[in-house]
Amino acid sequence: MSAGTATAEVRDRLESARAAIDAHARLVPDFPEPGVEFKDLTPVLAAPDGLRTVTTALADACAGADLIAGIDARGFLLGGAIAHHLGIGVVAVRKGGKLPPPVIGVDYDLEYGSARLEVPASGIDFAGRRVAVVDDVLATGGTLCATLDLLRQMGALVSDVAVVMELSGFPGRARIEAAGGGDLRVHNLCQG
Ligand code: AMP
Repeated sequence: MSAGTATAEVRDRLESARAAIDAHARLVPDFPEPGVEFKDLTPVLAAPDGLRTVTTALADACAGADLIAGIDARGFLLGGAIAHHLGIGVVAVRKGGKLPPPVIGVDYDLEYGSARLEVPASGIDFAGRRVAVVDDVLATGGTLCATLDLLRQMGALVSDVAVVMELSGFPGRARIEAAGGGDLRVHNLCQG
């Protein structure tokens, strides 16, 4: 396959994913609190064309990775399918208190409220692995920056961040790129 053909195919797959997102995403005003518009992408993943097209396009973005990290909870659905597509492994980045010890964790702020994320500190060899982190929505970037912090503390090389929807008007991308030190690529399938 020529590079031009590959690029056209990647573009076609991205367009298919965007069509599915446009068809199935649900915007919920004032959830989980007044003033927040919640981008509900669960109907996209529940649609026959949605899960396949979205995770195939995200797999294109994560093609250089050798491990996928999916963020609690919709990142689990995306991460497993992307890793399967690429023939690599997946690890769940979980909310605090769910994993057996030993864990490594970090507290961080959200668009609404605060949270804690953890990854296993034993049993998974993160050192030197090229990890792509996936989630459904990028807003403030707090969740993804916390995840980068955790994975780096475990010795991973975070190569890519890939999300379905990047919200405009938030500093998420700038925060991640600043934390990434220039080598980290941030991908979205669409903006919201
Ligand atoms: P943030 O850390 O602010 O970038 O938020 C990202 C995380 O919070 C993702 O895991 C999203 O699932 C969720 N999230 C934040 N804001 C929204 C929103 N407006 N709509 C849907 N999910 C959101």
